[in-house]
Amino acid sequence: MTPLQNEIEHRGKRIFELVDKNPESLFSKAGFYQRLMTLSMRDEQLKLQLFRFVAVLPSLHTSDEIIEHLQEYFADGHESRKVAQFLGAGIRLAGIVPWISGPILRWNVSEMARQFIAGRNPNDVMRTLRKRRTQNIGFTVDLLGEAVVSETEADEYAARYLDLLEGLARETKNWTDALKKNSELFPLVNLSVKISALYSQISPDDPAETIAHLAPKLRPLLRRARELGAFINFDMESYAHKNSTLELFKTVFTEEEFRDWPHAGIVIQAYLRDSDADLRDLIEWGRARGTRFAVRLVKGAYWDYETTKSRQNGWDCPVYLQKPESDANFETLTRLLLENESIVTSAFGSHNVRSIAHAQALAEQLGIDRSRFEFQLLYGMAGPIKRALVEMGYRVREYCPVGELLPGMSYLVRRLLENTSNEGFLRAKFSENVPAEELLRDPREILRGSRNGVLPPPNATTNMTATTPKTQPGAHYENAPLTNFALPENQEKMRAALREQRKQFGGKVPLTINGEKIWTDKMFSSVNPSQPDQIVGYAAEAGIPEAERAVAAARAAFEKWRRTSFEERCQLLERAAEILERRRFELSALEVFEVGKPWAEADGDIREAIDFCTFYARQMRLIGRPRLTQNVPGEESYQHYWPRGVALVIAPWNFPMAILCGMVSAALVTGNTVIMKPSEQSVIIGAMLMEIYEEAGVPPGVLNFLNGKGSVIGAHMVDHKDVDLIAFTGSREVGLWIWESAGKTREGQRELKRVICEMGGKNAMIVDSDADLDEAIVDSIYSAFGFQGQKCSALSRLIVLEENYDRVMERLLGAAASVRVGNPEEPGIMVGPVIDEAAYRRILDYIEVGKNEATLAYQAKELPPHGYFVPPTIFTGLKPNMRIACEEIFGPVLSVIKVRDLDEAIEVANGTDYALTGGFFSRSPANIERIKAQLEAGNVYINRPCTGAIVGRHPFGGFKMSGGGTKAGGKDYLLNFLIPRVVTENVARHGLTPEKTPEYCDEFLWPKH
Ligand SMILES: Cc1cc2nc3c(=O)[nH]c(=O)nc-3n(C[C@H](O)[C@H](O)[C@H](O)COP(=O)(O)OP(=O)(O)OC[C@H]3O[C@@H](n4cnc5c(N)ncnc54)[C@H](O)[C@@H]3O)c2cc1C
Repeated sequence: MTPLQNEIEHRGKRIFELVDKNPESLFSKAGFYQRLMTLSMRDEQLKLQLFRFVAVLPSLHTSDEIIEHLQEYFADGHESRKVAQFLGAGIRLAGIVPWISGPILRWNVSEMARQFIAGRNPNDVMRTLRKRRTQNIGFTVDLLGEAVVSETEADEYAARYLDLLEGLARETKNWTDALKKNSELFPLVNLSVKISALYSQISPDDPAETIAHLAPKLRPLLRRARELGAFINFDMESYAHKNSTLELFKTVFTEEEFRDWPHAGIVIQAYLRDSDADLRDLIEWGRARGTRFAVRLVKGAYWDYETTKSRQNGWDCPVYLQKPESDANFETLTRLLLENESIVTSAFGSHNVRSIAHAQALAEQLGIDRSRFEFQLLYGMAGPIKRALVEMGYRVREYCPVGELLPGMSYLVRRLLENTSNEGFLRAKFSENVPAEELLRDPREILRGSRNGVLPPPNATTNMTATTPKTQPGAHYENAPLTNFALPENQEKMRAALREQRKQFGGKVPLTINGEKIWTDKMFSSVNPSQPDQIVGYAAEAGIPEAERAVAAARAAFEKWRRTSFEERCQLLERAAEILERRRFELSALEVFEVGKPWAEADGDIREAIDFCTFYARQMRLIGRPRLTQNVPGEESYQHYWPRGVALVIAPWNFPMAILCGMVSAALVTGNTVIMKPSEQSVIIGAMLMEIYEEAGVPPGVLNFLNGKGSVIGAHMVDHKDVDLIAFTGSREVGLWIWESAGKTREGQRELKRVICEMGGKNAMIVDSDADLDEAIVDSIYSAFGFQGQKCSALSRLIVLEENYDRVMERLLGAAASVRVGNPEEPGIMVGPVIDEAAYRRILDYIEVGKNEATLAYQAKELPPHGYFVPPTIFTGLKPNMRIACEEIFGPVLSVIKVRDLDEAIEVANGTDYALTGGFFSRSPANIERIKAQLEAGNVYINRPCTGAIVGRHPFGGFKMSGGGTKAGGKDYLLNFLIPRVVTENVARHGLTPEKTPEYCDEFLWPKH
């Protein structure tokens, strides 16, 4: 054993002795809290339900509501009896007479919350702080409620921080440092701030803007803190905010005014793989600055969130996945901090006795006096450890959250999760009585053991998502990852791509027919909607003769392409996917200029195109080989598919690459030949797709690229006898015309034309009375105004229950007013320009209609001076039958409709011609079940935005007047492009029958080539 390990064990055991001298169960509060903890540690699923219930409780207003939710959350569960006992008021959940006093339950939960929340307000918290003072425990105070949805809320927070600071300084005027040594390093008043509470529009892709906005907000607070001799700490939140927080810290504290101020600190999270580099960078910065600063080292509070988020987006997980890795890294960073003690003051934020004892032992080894660093622990947790540390002569500071229960719910749930985590120290020590030797083991040794297979690698069962049911075998498909714009290297790549694209402005693209580049007399210009005087590119325009040539080329190429093996066709799509990935930033940048997409939206569009290629290739492999229909002796009957023929693809501009590429790829992989006609507004992106498929090796004639007017060449080809299939996404007007026209049989026509038709929506989201408004507001605003409301899935009717209406509206209007409108070339913009002048005028006309019909509740005032910018607008006072509540506007206009109850909400939501997307915000399991069953929409989204469908995960498409019921990105989509065929052979010869018939046979291809 190394001397250091020896010392750690010695110190650790001493802490345990002291802890055991004043024993206190982790779950010391008897009654409700203790029972909650015990019950939730028994069963992960039950824990999930219990914590969800705890989270919704503060938003329930009446006893009846509380009882209803209780019934819904627990009545059917296998543990319902135990839950009933735990709730302890004699309720009979599965019984007939549910009775419980709602207020008692609410009181229980607020009492539990008070265990972790040090006070409701600054006055309240002082009682706690005074008490701690007598125990020689210092404080850092934090204001609860990190999720602000608007700048009004953010400003209120900033003001409250300032008040808190003043109050604390006043109240502690005559207090002195507990250790009376090196006290100049540790001001008594210590305030912890969260940047997300000070700015509602933090955008991970735009740290510079975040800093520009937050620095002026912080300066008055910092200035006052300095005057009052206080200390300010920047807390660390999710990974997406990490770089901005670090940059903000370094920027502000390098400014002349604060450069020589030593009382600033920041948090480093040891569970992050980046943390070592970040800490080294901070120390280097600190040395260059020449003034001390402080770092609170923690493991990190968002482990479940980070692992879930990165899995959803296909990102490398930023956190370690094995608990001892975080522990070991905590120790590495402890050493780094202590070795740089001359510039950085350390605070170790941990309840883990091993981590604490390691810091103590190492400091001793390095000769650092114990008054020169501190241990920080959370209010309401690990009381005996705090007392032990004080007794050992260490500095102890308690992190004291202040605020009301509702904004404090996410903090409370984080603490409950931490206390019940399978992998947490507190549970191991105080609930499961794991022996001291085990608890004090070197995490590196545990890791080595795990790598040698001595221990099973720790799994992620602390993670709530681990309880979700497994998917069907074979159903797993991996999407391409989204670009993580929180990473500086990706921000830089995007900026470089934008610069590069600018240089390409004014380029010309030809038509492509039968592999030939065709230039025509007419050129079409495609402009940047943010600056219409900028021409992104010119495209040759096709007329009827070119359309005829394209149809003939596609028809001629069909015979060979249909006989090309599906495997070759799949590989073509996969090569296209690789090229799309390689050119990803370039294409995203082009979308920013050609259609006004914000960065993340443009990237999402390219990602979706990649997904369509890989997903359809995978689907084709699943259905490509002829498959035995039934196993009977003497007969072989195989079903397989033939392509339909020549496919005409007509795509819109709003997902200029994804939708075009999706329809084209589905048609190609199924063996059809294609004429693709992108929208006139996004023709340069369309030409890029042609280029990509050519590079991928599409044979001449198999894919043809025509640019031209829909009313001229589109109409001509829809009616053409040699076109067998039309895949269309666009307006209702054109879609219905295609549907009708394709139904007429023309002379010489071979096939009944198949139409795949995706049209618009008038999408509604309902906000239930118990909805989590932090989520509902942010998601509604994004669904309505993201990409200027120009998604067919966009929210256009927000239906709010009257009980909740005032609360929702107050926050919704504030949030709308905070949205960033501007040129999407800048990162972090939510609302850019609409696509063209016609759209601009049409949407403004609708706004006028709205002003006449309803009440204008909000309209943005500040817009860029040039470009087709329409102000985000919200109407209230609507009747469901008004024009703006019924007609598709396709712009940033949101109608809010107030309803009595959920019955009326569903009636209004379903009362339009459309059925594309729909959403619901609620925490009532029964109401959620009802919506799942009754909302008329092709894609129903619960407690999340109603836009952003992901290939394979959310097959997309609607019914009624929204579309023909097909699902792009779904497993049955390719069947629309195919004709099923069955080949049956009698294989019995004079009673001789083969014993076994294979389930699949080779493709029927003749002649093979
Ligand atoms: C005073 C104070 C202030 C804090 N401020 C912040 C802050 O600003 N930002 C912040 O994010 N956190 C903060 N925390 C940390 C956080 O809230 C937890 O309290 C802390 O991570 C628990 O660590 P521990 O050493 O006490 O317990 P332990 O039980 O030793 O460690 C638990 C931690 O290990 C990590 N972990 C769990 N499972 C795994 C796994 N499978 N793989 C890898 N790692 C895993 C997680 O970080 C988890 O929280 C603060 C903590 C304190 C005490």
